[in-house]
Amino acid sequence: MGDTRYFSSICGYEKQLDLGGGLNAINKEFISRVFPDADFSGIGRPIMENALAVCGRCREIMAVPVLKDMDTGKVIKKLPCPLCNGEADLAEEPVKCPQCGSPMESFPAGNWD
Ligand SMILES: [Zn+2]
Ligand SMILES: [Zn+2]
Repeated sequence: MGDTRYFSSICGYEKQLDLGGGLNAINKEFISRVFPDADFSGIGRPIMENALAVCGRCREIMAVPVLKDMDTGKVIKKLPCPLCNGEADLAEEPVKCPQCGSPMESFPAGNWD
């Protein structure tokens, strides 16, 4: 089950994101639909998660699907920014607000599958 998190900044920018892995996180067929060129041969236990990311060009935070190796935690593939198709940078909490640069507060806002 994934976590839905709500992020807010002092400047008023806010965003709710579905992070982590849902029901299909370890379903290889489903992962292949999101990452058609994924090669599972070198991956011990592939898992797909929505990772917290920032696109500097769009000045937005977002949830970007990544393919990881569960054993090493290493990110093998990641989708681009869904808005501009450019590179989105993976981020850790506390994430900096892409609008004003202040650290954003985040709160749990439920779960998703
Ligand atoms: Zn973008
Ligand atoms: Zn802000």
